[in-house]
Amino acid sequence: MVDLKTTAEIEQMRAAGRVVATALGAVKKHAAVGVSLLELDGVAREVLRSAGAASLFEGYQPGFADSPFSGVICTSVNDGVLHGLPSDERLADGDLLNVDCGASIEGWCADAATSFVVGTPRAEDLELIATTEQALAAGIAAAVPGARLGDIGAAISEVGQKAGVGTNLDFGGHGIGRRMHEDPHVPNAGRPGRGLKLRAGHVIAIEPWFWSGPGSVYVIDDDGWTLRSADHTRGAHAEHTVAITEEGPQILTLP
Ligand code: MG
Ligand code: MG
Repeated sequence: MVDLKTTAEIEQMRAAGRVVATALGAVKKHAAVGVSLLELDGVAREVLRSAGAASLFEGYQPGFADSPFSGVICTSVNDGVLHGLPSDERLADGDLLNVDCGASIEGWCADAATSFVVGTPRAEDLELIATTEQALAAGIAAAVPGARLGDIGAAISEVGQKAGVGTNLDFGGHGIGRRMHEDPHVPNAGRPGRGLKLRAGHVIAIEPWFWSGPGSVYVIDDDGWTLRSADHTRGAHAEHTVAITEEGPQILTLP
């Protein structure tokens, strides 16, 4: 069941999205060599608290997890790409950091992620981040009334394939509203013209994630959460919460 959100509900999600974007911005500003992942979690936590927003991540325990998540952000470093549990690990020069944040205000949810390099960047990491952001932009551009869900996945995977990055389809985007994860699943690959017909009022999180190498296999750390490439190639992740409207796609997770 994929429900439609009213204009007023979309505005409530935009309010939550503003907090998420502000938290991600604060984390990016604070991230530096020697700063720990738990300190970054504290920065995001303070943004959510002062805005009166609730974390969607803290206490979250989906079927694949043995324990509830303890952070308000996911912090995935280098070959970590998704679900990174904030720890006392300190950032080093050149680390590629993927940060994901979800929050709700009055029960309406928003979810976004961004990737960036701490300190001196490697050219290949900047390329990987640019590819991931291009894929996100292509996916968002395809999110218009009358298009199909497969158009979004096809747009994302076309960018990835051209860049020769590694993909894994076990995790992808999702509907979002009163809950962080609603129907439909929004895969990062698809066939144009296939799948659910998109309508004004659908709100989805679009979230490509890629590896710099061809690998598609991942391992999970002993913390039960942090997802890494099995071959240690680095990963990048980009996500926005997007409302499909008659005026075109609207990104709700902007500051
Ligand atoms: Mg997310
Ligand atoms: Mg998401």
